[in-house]
Amino acid sequence: MAKDLSIIVAGGGIAGLTAALALASRGNRVTVLDKAERIQPIGAGIQLSPNAIRILDNLGVADDLRYSATVPQGIQVVSARNARPVTTIPLGADAIAKYGLPYFTIHRPDLHAALLAACETNPDIEIKTSTRVSDATQHRNGVSILHMNGSRPETMSCDLLVGADGIWSTIRHELFAYKPAGFSGRDAWRALIPAEKVPSSIDMDFTRLVLARNTHGVFYPVSAGRYLNLVIVAPAKTTESKAGRQNTDVEELIGKLGGWHSSLQDLMRLGSSWSTWPMFTITETRGALQNKWHNGSAVLIGDAAHGMLPFAAQGAAMGIEDAAILAECVSRGDGLQKALAQYSTLRLPRVQKVARLSRRNGELYHMGWPFSLMRDLTMRFTPPGLFLKRQDWIYRWRTQDSIA
Ligand SMILES: Cc1cc2nc3c(=O)[nH]c(=O)nc-3n(C[C@H](O)[C@H](O)[C@H](O)COP(=O)(O)OP(=O)(O)OC[C@H]3O[C@@H](n4cnc5c(N)ncnc54)[C@H](O)[C@@H]3O)c2cc1C
Repeated sequence: MAKDLSIIVAGGGIAGLTAALALASRGNRVTVLDKAERIQPIGAGIQLSPNAIRILDNLGVADDLRYSATVPQGIQVVSARNARPVTTIPLGADAIAKYGLPYFTIHRPDLHAALLAACETNPDIEIKTSTRVSDATQHRNGVSILHMNGSRPETMSCDLLVGADGIWSTIRHELFAYKPAGFSGRDAWRALIPAEKVPSSIDMDFTRLVLARNTHGVFYPVSAGRYLNLVIVAPAKTTESKAGRQNTDVEELIGKLGGWHSSLQDLMRLGSSWSTWPMFTITETRGALQNKWHNGSAVLIGDAAHGMLPFAAQGAAMGIEDAAILAECVSRGDGLQKALAQYSTLRLPRVQKVARLSRRNGELYHMGWPFSLMRDLTMRFTPPGLFLKRQDWIYRWRTQDSIA
């Protein structure tokens, strides 16, 4: 076991809180700094696959989630034109039988609450909110950071700085000088529908993936089935966009979705508080993410390292995996530099492969006629179990196998 390190995690999102738990479980002292007044999630729902649940289970967080999560029986792929099913990809009992763990859909506040509760009861973790990290400097014995405590500048030092500060990461900018995130040209529109308003034609036991030319939707239950979460991805109005959420009118969205079946449009009208989220990604250089996520005594995890398109539903899962691998590498006692280099080496190929899959899924989902016809026919005649089998390399993943 390595010597106990003093560690600062910049950012209390899913990746940062998971990293705090994983690193503290190995005997390190961790301080999480977040610029927000209150640690809270961005967005409504999230799908969590067995590779992520396995880690949360090991950290003692998954039990809390079981009360609030939903376990969809499968993903119904639906054509937006006629609202008819193309195929159903099995999840539910099949996922549990294959991977030993469920595939969850969760309300983000429930996931955050579970992570936060676990951090707050851990004596080796301190959480400071309203604390924006604005600069970081490497020195011989670690890293010093400058943070704003309200309007007061303060400094802190640590052996290891973990940059988990999201897609607009200050740590990435200050210590890695990588290019900032770029706009994908698409927005995600999000809303919730209370279960009692959802028409009986929508089976709340399933996730629905709705495919159309240039747009797609993902609908799934959250909060133990009390709400249906809607996410619709559509081209943005302009090629430039500002980060952040805007409240929007569902009729504007429906106007963009020419050709979606009227029953799907009516479903969207039941959604409350629609908001639009411009989607940014870490720009890839010649098809590859920047090839190093460590520099001196600093390391990047989660969206700060690899913010990706969400079309494989794996962005947060990759941040959770980063956290587990980082804690494992650091605890091996081979020295911090070796540990961080090993972390980069282990994480990059897998995350890049997932980011590529995400991009390819986008191309597949957004095909126009006649390619969409070929896609739908292929899907219809593919044995449903094969779709799940193709996800094995993602869902079977275990920390100990990848680091053996
Ligand atoms: C539409 C959509 C759907 C998605 N669906 C899924 C899904 O189903 N499954 C999945 O696995 N992933 C999904 N994702 C991806 C997932 O949401 C992200 O990958 C994940 O939330 C990133 O977590 P993070 O902790 O790395 O960053 P963030 O959640 O961005 O957290 C960063 C934290 O850092 C703090 N911070 C920022 N700057 C500073 C600073 N300077 N100082 C201190 N604190 C700072 C912020 O306040 C924030 O709390 C989806 C994404 C989108 C857009």
